[in-house]
Amino acid sequence: MFRCPAGATIARSLLFTAFSICALCIVCFAPAAQAGNTIERLDDAALRNADRDTANWLSHGRTYSEQRFSPLNQINDRNIRKLQLAWEFKTGQTRGHEATPIVADGVMYFTGAWSVIFAVNAVTGEMIWKHDPEVPKETAQKACCDVVNRGVAAYRERIYSATLDGRLLALDATTGKLEWEVVTVDRSKPYTVTGAPRIVKGKVIIGNGGAELGVRGYFSAYHATTGELVWRTYTVPGDPAAGFESEAMEKAAQTWSGGEWWKVGGGGTAWDSMAYDPELDLLYVGTGNGSPWSRHERSPGGGDNLYLSSILAVDPDDGVIQWHYQTTPGDTWDFTATQHMILADFTIEGETRKVIMQAPKNGFFYVLDRTDGTLVSAEKYVTVTWADRVDPETGRPVEVPGQDFKDGLAVVKPTPFGGHNWQPMSFSPKTGLVYIPAQEVLGVYRRGDDYEYRPGQWNTGTDFNVYSLLTRHVATGHLLAWDPIQQKEIWRHPYAMPWNGGTLATAGNLVFQGTADGRFLAFNAETGKQLWEDHAGTGVIAAPVTFLADGKQYVSIVAGWGGAFALAGGEAAKVSNVGTAGRVLTFALVDDSAPSNDAIEELLTAEGALQDGERLFHKYCAVCHGASGVAGGTSIPDLRRTTVPYSAFDVIVRQGTLATEGMPGFGQYLTPEGTRLIKDYLEHQATRPGAP
Ligand code: CA
Repeated sequence: MFRCPAGATIARSLLFTAFSICALCIVCFAPAAQAGNTIERLDDAALRNADRDTANWLSHGRTYSEQRFSPLNQINDRNIRKLQLAWEFKTGQTRGHEATPIVADGVMYFTGAWSVIFAVNAVTGEMIWKHDPEVPKETAQKACCDVVNRGVAAYRERIYSATLDGRLLALDATTGKLEWEVVTVDRSKPYTVTGAPRIVKGKVIIGNGGAELGVRGYFSAYHATTGELVWRTYTVPGDPAAGFESEAMEKAAQTWSGGEWWKVGGGGTAWDSMAYDPELDLLYVGTGNGSPWSRHERSPGGGDNLYLSSILAVDPDDGVIQWHYQTTPGDTWDFTATQHMILADFTIEGETRKVIMQAPKNGFFYVLDRTDGTLVSAEKYVTVTWADRVDPETGRPVEVPGQDFKDGLAVVKPTPFGGHNWQPMSFSPKTGLVYIPAQEVLGVYRRGDDYEYRPGQWNTGTDFNVYSLLTRHVATGHLLAWDPIQQKEIWRHPYAMPWNGGTLATAGNLVFQGTADGRFLAFNAETGKQLWEDHAGTGVIAAPVTFLADGKQYVSIVAGWGGAFALAGGEAAKVSNVGTAGRVLTFALVDDSAPSNDAIEELLTAEGALQDGERLFHKYCAVCHGASGVAGGTSIPDLRRTTVPYSAFDVIVRQGTLATEGMPGFGQYLTPEGTRLIKDYLEHQATRPGAP
């Protein structure tokens, strides 16, 4: 006899003869495979198969391909008008918020400013834990582009995150307790870390930034369990006199000439984008600009200066570079290739191509064969003045003379802010389109007088005073739907400002994007028609995510105006009528069927002791000041915002001291006790989600 864990006793012979039809066997074997929650079970196989887990958002770009496409379609182009705010979580911080959340089993993990990590209930917005790594505030001086962070990684019961001051942390996913931390940078140098770590084959991969002040770029792999360094790959050569760490660095050094780049660091920092192809077993890493920016100072003898502004494909086991593609050889404009990279398989001219796509700062949209890095195609996706085209034979850009500001001033597009910056793009396999947060900003470059490396300061070798010219020109942005096979624009939605948020594409034929001017929008993914809009309360730069909880689809966006352009953009970066308070906004479809009488009764009594104040407010105030205290955007004040103390409030309401302004007195209806209850109710409403 055989005893099944479910309690059934089955004759052995029966078990074997009837194995395939014994329903109880499902009970016997299924629980072992399903033990624990999603993050406990999140191993290498689960990360490789993240695309099949449609309910959760398990890695930075949802999957290793970093497509930022969700197969969810409960929310779609037909019902989007019913999308409403479900909850809002305020981080209590005011600097730039750039994180893409990780969501698993109804728990959302994300970072705010200053590398602070939060875990919140993804259905209610209630905080579960918060970990403040207490980054010293003076680290801000080393940060080129605000004290931002782009999010966490999840793996085997842990949450991994990096800090502005260069640490990599492993936290218990359930409690937020610190399990280990390692310092990943030389803290005597101006390194910062703002990127989200990625997990590949049991290793946590993290890069760093700092090429504006002057550092040598690299990225590292740490053992996910122990925090031990497994490998480190430099992206630019050090001092040739000190020898080279690898063959790649020895070869790269032959492409630098005449300068002492190692004193400044050389740059090439890998501060954001990565992707992974498990089949080819290649990890892709984007690298940044040179240190200093000006190649005339950095490498006056010329040369490509490998591996600046490049996509590198490395073996994730040892970090050895397998191939490279340099988007801007000899970069002199801060044209990083750290922008988001997307993997997809296309049929091009009858042939299946495994491609990697990037829209780096330099203004060209690249499609490369990701097996060996050969160029498939490259076309301008924004206005580009520094190069005519990318030669399809050589894969190299054809530079326009004079644009490299060797002698005098050069007016250039794009700029250090990029035709597209770190704000992630997305790709929909359904429409075949890439959705790019594109922008048009004019750049003015001139070499700095008497360039000399100054430790601890910005070392770009360019004259920042000419930047003041920027503010006199209109800078704009647009959401660009780009066909990567035809290499052409399909549609665009224009914005008055650049520096808008990252994008999300869904199987509901939708594209979501937040904007610099504090809105959150949804578009028909095929046509570009705007279908929906809500207010985010602050400028949005991060990218949205979507997930299921209890079978219901939600869309979330981390909002918080900041980052490089918001800080440095001057007049062009000024946003009016939105706040600076960082927050997460989560939206869901409202059930617009009529509620039952019982449900209405329950709603009316749910406020407990406040119900009297609520009843009085709705009897005397709500017809002008709005249901539930929410004013309807007219000139009549939203009373949740009122800062007058109770005594003054009572005088205004009962004695009519503002009657000449249109606020009559209600003394014949309300007692002091009544105005006290109304004031308590409004204060309560001011603490609720969605309050101004
Ligand atoms: Ca840079």
